[in-house]
Amino acid sequence: MLPTTLRDDFPILRETVNGKPLVYLDNAATSQNPTQVIEASRHYYEKLNANIHRGTHYLARAATEAHEAARNSVAAHINAASPDEVIFTSGTTDGINLVANILSLSPGDEILISTLEHHSNIVPWQMLAERSGAILKVIPCDEDGVLDQAAFQDLLSDKTKIFTLTWVSNAFGTVNPVREMTAAAKTHGAIVLIDAAQAVPHMAIDVQALGADFLAFSGHKVYAPTGIGVLWGKLDLLKSLPPWKGGGEMIKEVTFEGTTYNDPPFRYEAGTPNIEGAIALAAALDYVNAIGLDEIHGHEQFLIRHAAAALSEIPGIRLYGPAERACSLSFAIEGIHHYDLGTLIDQMGVAVRTGHHCCQPLMARFGITGTTRASFALYNTEEDISALTAALKKASAMLR
Ligand code: PLP
Repeated sequence: MLPTTLRDDFPILRETVNGKPLVYLDNAATSQNPTQVIEASRHYYEKLNANIHRGTHYLARAATEAHEAARNSVAAHINAASPDEVIFTSGTTDGINLVANILSLSPGDEILISTLEHHSNIVPWQMLAERSGAILKVIPCDEDGVLDQAAFQDLLSDKTKIFTLTWVSNAFGTVNPVREMTAAAKTHGAIVLIDAAQAVPHMAIDVQALGADFLAFSGHKVYAPTGIGVLWGKLDLLKSLPPWKGGGEMIKEVTFEGTTYNDPPFRYEAGTPNIEGAIALAAALDYVNAIGLDEIHGHEQFLIRHAAAALSEIPGIRLYGPAERACSLSFAIEGIHHYDLGTLIDQMGVAVRTGHHCCQPLMARFGITGTTRASFALYNTEEDISALTAALKKASAMLR
């Protein structure tokens, strides 16, 4: 277990909600920022704020250095072969859309995704399929929310041009065997993108060991601000692909007759980027690395098991997802709508997420409109789980 004193790093955790101490269990949606990250943002605006890359003055150079140092930090954190493989985006959604817009497919080509995907790893591919005449194929899952590996093998073929998969399901916490599935897709020559939005906050990432071509994640799920994210891509592949958005920074030379494009990563970073966000993201990664991702993983695994055991005792509860899950715990209580449950426990200071979690096809697979989801971060404690359990018991007694 991590020391509870870590909570002191997160000022928002001292807030009260409806007169009750805040119990924040909506971390899969957005995690909170520690003082170290808030200070990095503040330092940027107080000491460094300027537009980057083309300035000759001191602040422009200092801001550029800090921004590019952030890129180096991200590259080191995910073990990228080069910082040039790290593209700053506004988040996972932005990164996936970028890839879906720079890859071109032909009619009859196949894009393979899974039932567990977040809408942001479904809709961009549907749009690409619509544009190109490609076909979207979906790997089914079983009653535990685990992907059917035999079906996956059957769906894979040389027609599979793109295979994309979430590492960890935000809705059910399922951890997919991404390395093995990537290797299988690669034997058919598919381009592989991993949605690591729910993986990066909870485990060490090594993109070189992963074997995929692209990986996307969001800063705000890993203790950084909103509006910053990362798309990692293999450099040779990025070099061979066209730009998507046009504008400043992504060019080498512009004339009215034509434009030549910059090298990656700048080719994919048109316009003024979120400079402060990148710097704050690097501060957030420094923060988690100082604690240790193995320690964070161990702590969160303890919490999720403890929560699953505690919640199992609530009459009429159904837990979704496999017994071995990452830090999202989805559940329903018989006869009670998830929205009513979430609203009532919010009155008791407990913040959880209710609804489809941007996974409507997954909810449809289970014949439900949504669940209640508690999701954990490094600052959560056994007391948070006791508060959640007590609030759920009280709310279900009131709503029955
Ligand atoms: N993919 C997964 C698995 C997610 O959980 C989320 C957000 O919940 C996203 C993608 C989209 O992230 P963002 O809204 O930060 O772009």
